Order: sequence, then C-alpha cells, then structure tokens
Amino acid sequence: MTNYQFYDLPLEWQGFLQACNSCSNCELYKERKQVVVFRGGIKASFMIIGEGPGRHEDEQGLPFVGRSGNLLNDALTGLEFTEEDYHICNIVKCRPPGNRTPTEEEAVACRRLLNAQFALVKPKVIMLSGATAFRYFTGSTDPISKVRGIWIESKGYYIMPTFHPAYILRNMSKRDLLWHDLLMVRKKLEEFKLIAPMENPILL
Ligand code: SF4
Repeated sequence: MTNYQFYDLPLEWQGFLQACNSCSNCELYKERKQVVVFRGGIKASFMIIGEGPGRHEDEQGLPFVGRSGNLLNDALTGLEFTEEDYHICNIVKCRPPGNRTPTEEEAVACRRLLNAQFALVKPKVIMLSGATAFRYFTGSTDPISKVRGIWIESKGYYIMPTFHPAYILRNMSKRDLLWHDLLMVRKKLEEFKLIAPMENPILL
C-alpha cells in the first residue's frame, strides 16, 4: 500500500490506513485490487494530489507509477526534491473502472479520508495535478489551461494547479510548463524555509 512497512508507521497512520483499507463509502470499492493511499513522506510540506489510481497504481498500491509517474519523478528529481519532501495522493483512493473520471459523488465520498490525510501530513503547499483534481479540490470549473501556473492562496495554504503528467505525455510540448510550475512550488517552499535551496539552481 505504501512505501513504508505498516508496523513501522506511527499509530495514527496505522489507524488511518486501516480506515482506508476497509472503506466502502462509494461504489469504487467493489472493483479495486488495492486502496491507493500515498507515496513519499508521511509528514511533508508539499502535497501532490492527482485524480485517482489507474491500472498500474491499482496493481502496485502506489499513486503515480507507470509512465505518468516516471515523468513526474523525473521532474521532481530534476528539481532536487527527495522522496521525503513530498506526499503524493489522489482525490479518490480506489480505481474507477476503465480509468474513467471519478464522479463528483465518489470525490465527495472520499473527501473525508483526504481531509484526515491532510491533518496527518500537514502540507503548506499543494499541487493539484490535472483538471479533475483542480475541479474537485477547489470546486471551480475553470479550465486547467487557464488556471495552471497561478497561485491560489486559501486558509494559509498555497495551491498550485498544473497539468497532469498523463496529459504531458500526450503533449510533450507542454513539458516545460510542468517543470515551471514545480519550480514555482520549490521557490515557495524555499521562501518559507521548508526545503533546502537547490545545489544546482536551474532557470526555465
Ligand atoms: S474511493 Fe475513497 S470513498 Fe470510495 S471506496 Fe475507495 S477509499 Fe472509500
């Protein structure tokens, strides 16, 4: 389920993972192989939220694996993020059949768990990866192409909408925009001294 051994995790995390594993709050529980909760640090200033698990994620029990995950990892590594610097999760924790977009009802059903995850991770900066994450997290119907790369400040959080890596894979000319948005996240974290400055700063 995670990149951690279950019994090495703090008790509150063990309880949270058990709540996720036993969840049947929406129809998505029926066809999942695994509940996909997170990868990365269990406490991190930077949280990345995607849409929902796909086939590879469902099989491996980890979010953002496969080609999309590799593309995101390359950008994170290129900008000198370590695995402990970020926490990656999704709007819904179970795979929608056929990789369809989660319904609003499913997103609402899973929000309770996402809120609990927030309370454990305590992020300051949030990246919303793709149109679905942006829509369900903020409630806005603005197109992602209009809002990406622009900070949203809300209740002490800094929220950065961006393109989903799966979209970048289909539109490689947009790859620099993902790097740009991640670099803005990095600079924000550096501004708050929540991450060490890059050893090899890059300009985009
Ligand atoms: S998607 Fe979320 S709310 Fe639905 S069954 Fe899975 S964990 Fe529960």
